[in-house]
Amino acid sequence: MKDLFDLTGKVSVITGSTKGIGKAMAEGMAAFGSKVVISSRKADACEAVAAAINESGGEAMAHPCHVGHKDQLERLVAATRERWGKIDNLVVNAAVNPYYGSSLGIPDSAFDKVMEVNIKSVHWLCQMVIPEMQERRDGSIVIVSSVGGFRGTAVLGAYSISKAADMQLARNLAAEFGPDNIRVNAVCPGLVKTNFARALWEDPKREQAVAARTPLRRLGEPEDCAGIAVYLASRAGSWTTGQTFTVDGGVVGCG
Ligand code: NAP
Repeated sequence: MKDLFDLTGKVSVITGSTKGIGKAMAEGMAAFGSKVVISSRKADACEAVAAAINESGGEAMAHPCHVGHKDQLERLVAATRERWGKIDNLVVNAAVNPYYGSSLGIPDSAFDKVMEVNIKSVHWLCQMVIPEMQERRDGSIVIVSSVGGFRGTAVLGAYSISKAADMQLARNLAAEFGPDNIRVNAVCPGLVKTNFARALWEDPKREQAVAARTPLRRLGEPEDCAGIAVYLASRAGSWTTGQTFTVDGGVVGCG
């Protein structure tokens, strides 16, 4: 039982892992023994995060990848296999939200970008990685969705549609590939203090108002999302699939 969360010998790819939630998940998985692939659009940021993990005793490689480009996803997968031979755990975390406002005003280009990056690229990456997991009869995929995918919204429409779709994607893949012992789950963070969500918390009054509505009386920090990634990648999560895990200080469950 002591080894329940041990990830020694595992290889984990985490998209969007130079900042925020993805970085905290990667650091958490590395701390429990996984080799981790650090990836985002910026090569220097990938190198810096990987170097910090390596310096602190973990094992990380850097590989820049814009998840909206299929060829870059293919290279991410190929580079990981070239270096470490396999991918045991995939965390699909990178996402975009280029538009805030009425659904009547969103440009087609912004709508398409959200659907491409937040849904289609997740589907692509899973298509690329699942066959080797099938061969090995083992693998875990975590799709980072959002509590925004649970409720109607007047200002984050396309983003929330994409996040609801991510939960369904996890359920579909769990149903299809469960017989191959591949677990696929979604994680829905609430409001976490990252750059991505800065507009929603940088005004102290707004932050206090959100905290007051939150049963645990604070917003999330990226580290609050690390444990669920370790759990789902490890032996501890080996009978868990097709689920959506909300990590939000209690808002959805108690609101
Ligand atoms: P963040 O702190 O801004 O980090 C985003 C990461 O993704 C960075 O490493 C960024 O690096 C990378 N990235 C952005 N666009 C990319 C692209 N097209 N291709 C590859 N990498 C890309 O954001 P975060 O808040 O941690 O968000 C991570 C995930 O959590 C997203 O799926 C988001 O929807 C979800 N989420 C966040 C919150 C929240 O309150 N923060 C709540 C619910 C859900 P580069 O810019 O260098 O590429």
